[in-house]
Amino acid sequence: MIYTQPELPYAKDALQPAISQMTVDYHYGKHEKAYIANLNKLIEGTEYADMELEDIIRESKGALFNNASQAWNHIFYFFSFSPDGGGEPQGELKKAIDSQFGSFEDFKKAFVQAGASIFGSGWVWLSKDTDGRLFITQESNAGNPLTAGLTPILTFDVWEHAYYLDYQNRRADALEKLWDIIDWDVVSSRY
Ligand code: MN
Repeated sequence: MIYTQPELPYAKDALQPAISQMTVDYHYGKHEKAYIANLNKLIEGTEYADMELEDIIRESKGALFNNASQAWNHIFYFFSFSPDGGGEPQGELKKAIDSQFGSFEDFKKAFVQAGASIFGSGWVWLSKDTDGRLFITQESNAGNPLTAGLTPILTFDVWEHAYYLDYQNRRADALEKLWDIIDWDVVSSRY
């Protein structure tokens, strides 16, 4: 199977000012494009060639894991946004957040704090287990909670390439601005 990069469901300048057009161009147009190209090269002619991407992430290591997971993570990340985003989670996800974190405001604080405090490159995740219990986890580099048997709900990319053009060293500020563009219809439906 050859993986292709899906077109974003919004214009490249539509996430401004939270994420600039230049960052979308580099981050999705170059970084993510390269992960997908590397993934395709690495699986060609191997036992992974016809595997679903989630299964490659669960079963691979090293360069293949890194590129497969980064390919998946960025699609998940960029498809969580909308120029009409913002607001609050809905339905069962909202109930679970309120019940586990006290309030949406408390959840947002904990999530940004977890992302801001990752040392080096990585991702902060909100995931659920099979009982619907929510977890905020920090992953280094290409890490993905699928490998721990969890179902991802939301992620923020904390690699410098995600924010340095727009925010330089101010990672927490960059993460805070993402709340303005979260598409809670999409994210709530993952719960
Ligand atoms: Mn990234």
